[in-house]
Amino acid sequence: MRDRIEKSLAAERIDIIKMASNHTVIPLKEHGIAVQQLCPHATEVVRRLQEEGYEAYIVGGSVRDLLLGKVPKDYDVATDAIPEEVKTVFPRYRLIGRRFRLAHVRLGGTLIEVATFRGPQVDDEDDHVHDNGRILRDNVWGSLEEDAVRRDFTINALFLDPVSGDIQDFVGGFKDLSERKLRLIGDAETRYREDPVRLLRAARFVAKLGVEPDEKTIAPITQMAPLLGDIPPARLFEEVCKLFMTGHAARTLEALQRFGLTRALFPVLERKGNTGKAKTGPLMDTAMRNTDQRIAEEKPVTPAFLLAAILWHPVRKRADELQKEGMREFLALAQASDEVLSAQAQQTAVPRRFSAVTHQIWTMQPRFNNTHGRRAKSLMRERRFRAAYDFLLLRAEEDESLKALCDHWTEAQKGVQLNTGPEKRHNDNTRRRPRRRGRRSAAASKN
Ligand code: ATP
Ligand code: MG
Repeated sequence: MRDRIEKSLAAERIDIIKMASNHTVIPLKEHGIAVQQLCPHATEVVRRLQEEGYEAYIVGGSVRDLLLGKVPKDYDVATDAIPEEVKTVFPRYRLIGRRFRLAHVRLGGTLIEVATFRGPQVDDEDDHVHDNGRILRDNVWGSLEEDAVRRDFTINALFLDPVSGDIQDFVGGFKDLSERKLRLIGDAETRYREDPVRLLRAARFVAKLGVEPDEKTIAPITQMAPLLGDIPPARLFEEVCKLFMTGHAARTLEALQRFGLTRALFPVLERKGNTGKAKTGPLMDTAMRNTDQRIAEEKPVTPAFLLAAILWHPVRKRADELQKEGMREFLALAQASDEVLSAQAQQTAVPRRFSAVTHQIWTMQPRFNNTHGRRAKSLMRERRFRAAYDFLLLRAEEDESLKALCDHWTEAQKGVQLNTGPEKRHNDNTRRRPRRRGRRSAAASKN
């Protein structure tokens, strides 16, 4: 194994040298990014580093998105200043991360990630820790060229100098982007082994950008999917959020299926053939489309609801088994939910604040059968009623017989003030601290 890794590392170094010799500079008039319209804070960070004599560029997804005419969601800066030097320029910066040490610089309320150029892999270096080809820590500093070839895809390795307007390209990323081609830098197998999350990133960029992987980039994906089992579950949960909560969930699911990655992320789903695909269906497809639609309309979405849709079939199947053994439906669903969520958490950690809501959405489903009386009224007062009702509508996508029940509950809500829970308010996976009760409200509740 080690032998193979060393050979592929040596091959990769040769690749790196070959690629870096293809250096091209794309001037402003050729790439056409409106430099004046760039985030002024990112430009300011670059300018201040350059004024202190450092090299600095805007890099990565932001340059790629600008070239595609999209608005970048954030800006990254790469520099030859090491973190301690960045601190002398921006005394209030914050150092974060262990696997990748980064500086967070806050300017005018905007957060800019500033990373020092990274170098190639050097074995036996303390700051470059490997485990069977996987990079556990990656903090060896390098030059601009070296940093370019350490990045994942060619289209993510373009360096824009917002002051001169030039783009530095060492890997042919500019041409690839204009041809909508997704190409991994270096030997694909080695690069996926170093960081298997790149497998998911490939699917994400296909879905998000409409690029198409070249043969070498796509060929090893399905076969390497099991490597995702080595990734810490918390990191995978973050990736799941990026995959499904950024406005292109439906296309992402298609890409995951096409690349045979779905079951590596959701091992509890029933397999479809033996290629890493999972059985999906109208419920899951509609949930993905609805999520995309809500994001397009700037409405809130929560991972709790999406997980409820993705994992519903295994939960329903296990609950059916338990009911056959004589358990009541509510208890069967509750137990099935616990089992499926804890099995899923082995692969992608699911923070409790989300899994608790997913559990409620599922276990509220039998309560929709009580359409009249006190129980029906109290159901509508539940904090998760709306999410559970939306889920009932989804179930009707696969079960015609639920349509009448859906109509009933749609009517029943007219004129009723619903208690919408906090999950309706936030769009991301950031934790909200419960608001502390003020002295006045605490006193009021005592009276
Ligand atoms: P988006 O912001 O749309 O998610 P992005 O490409 O900006 O896409 P980030 O996770 O913000 O993705 O990473 C910024 C840049 O860092 C990438 O463009 C790429 O150059 C580099 N990068 C990120 N993750 C990896 C990785 N796993 N391996 C190698 N390079 C990476
Ligand atoms: Mg980014």
